[in-house]
Amino acid sequence: MANKSLVKTPIPELLPDERIASFSEVALGYTPEQAKEEADRCLSCKKSPCVAGCPVGVQIPEFITKIQEGDIEGAADILKSKNLLPAICGRVCPQETQCEALCLRGKKGEPVGVGRLERFVADQTLDAPPPAKPPANGHKVAIVGSGPSGLTCAGELASKGYEVTIFEALHKAGGVLVYGIPEFRLPKSIVARELKTLEHLGVVIKTNSIVGRTLTVDELFAQGFEAVFIGSGAGLPSFLGIPGEAFNGVYSANEYLTRINLMKAYEKDSRTPVQRAKKVCVVGGGNVAMDAARCARRIGAEVTIVYRRTEKELPARLEEIHHAKEEGIVFKLLTNPLRIDADENGWVRNLRCQEMKLGEPDASGRARPIPVEGSEFDIETECVVMAIGNSPNPLISQTTRGLEVNRRGCLVLADEDKMLTTRAGVYAGGDAVTGAATVILAMGAGKTAACSIDEYIQGKQ
Ligand code: FAD
Ligand code: SF4
Repeated sequence: MANKSLVKTPIPELLPDERIASFSEVALGYTPEQAKEEADRCLSCKKSPCVAGCPVGVQIPEFITKIQEGDIEGAADILKSKNLLPAICGRVCPQETQCEALCLRGKKGEPVGVGRLERFVADQTLDAPPPAKPPANGHKVAIVGSGPSGLTCAGELASKGYEVTIFEALHKAGGVLVYGIPEFRLPKSIVARELKTLEHLGVVIKTNSIVGRTLTVDELFAQGFEAVFIGSGAGLPSFLGIPGEAFNGVYSANEYLTRINLMKAYEKDSRTPVQRAKKVCVVGGGNVAMDAARCARRIGAEVTIVYRRTEKELPARLEEIHHAKEEGIVFKLLTNPLRIDADENGWVRNLRCQEMKLGEPDASGRARPIPVEGSEFDIETECVVMAIGNSPNPLISQTTRGLEVNRRGCLVLADEDKMLTTRAGVYAGGDAVTGAATVILAMGAGKTAACSIDEYIQGKQ
């Protein structure tokens, strides 16, 4: 019988006091009974508007119907036929602005918890037999970067029989999924399990290989790769350009999160140093800012998020904002940093700020923050983490002939429908093209590029 509840079935979670004492996962996932209860809220709408909100086209009502019927393996088959990384997406996708934003149940009450159901199905079938490796088709493709765009492109091509090699600059595969998003939101064991699918499909991942340093795109072609996909992300952090950003105790969110997550500075016996400040200010309002703030809280700090617009404009996922508040993080909204002050030894002691008010919308469509004259004030802090955005690293574009970039440093596409760059045989997608965006958009781009690469290579025959 359909479940008429106007609200989503709640997901079990660790209590805030338990959370801030560890890096354990916060949201614990549905039990089979809770998943069935939530699945029963789905109306299996004929036109299924939710599907149009999913960048990889998951057949949402079909997989939810299988949960209603108790056929979890059937649900997993439907889900995994479109999404290579469902346990990851179920945890980190901003469903509220994608599939769930279009869900008809959301017109009156809360939408169906599509993400929570996706996670449930994926978690229940993590140990399912891997897909069979298809016969080799004799063609080689190189992928640069092992983030969601590169992994998806690799998976799609490998399942068509291509010999795929991923070149990854870091010592671990996964991109932001391993170096940025913290363990308490996305356990690394889950990432490793989903990466296994690629291994079974025969994808080779060469870590510690920096394209543009270890070898160039031209050398990849010379080695017999017939096409190259660039999914190198947007790992170059931005700073505000205010005085004091070079003082001790100022981090980019990238560095701060990489130290804590990838290099496991949060573990007691870790040899990776990270400042264990008593007071930390995080500047920014996106997922990156929430992650940095919640990490700082877990390593013992009182944390303030400084954001220049209001709560309504915070770009982070709603769940992350909610969790950050529950964990005692203070939101200093309509506030903009002006200067960082330090003590006589060059260590941060203050963040000088100014109050803001909102004006007319700017080019991004969001209300423009305007400084309030005479409203300057100080926030006492020992550490400032800048989480105000990232852009693509210029290394590949600077070392590859024929690759154009725009003024934000993003790779320009000569054919957007095909994800083709300005150089023949070189495709690109994800944050390297869009600038910092989302996991599922990067995956959608990787998928489109894989189709185009297949057409390109088969067309050459
Ligand atoms: P990336 O994930 O950045 O992967 C790029 C990979 O390429 C990296 O592994 C990098 O080492 C490698 N690389 C770079 N240059 C080279 C080179 N020259 N040679 C070889 N390898 C190279 N999105 C969401 O949807 N939900 C979230 O909750 C969310 N939270 C986030 C939290 C943080 C802290 C951050 C930083 C981002 C978050 N995002 C989130 C955004 C999301 O993670 C990215 O949009 C997504 O990972 C982009 O995927 P990608 O494949 O384009 O690049
Ligand atoms: Fe189910 Fe909502 Fe999709 Fe309708 S729009 S099929 S209710 S998830």
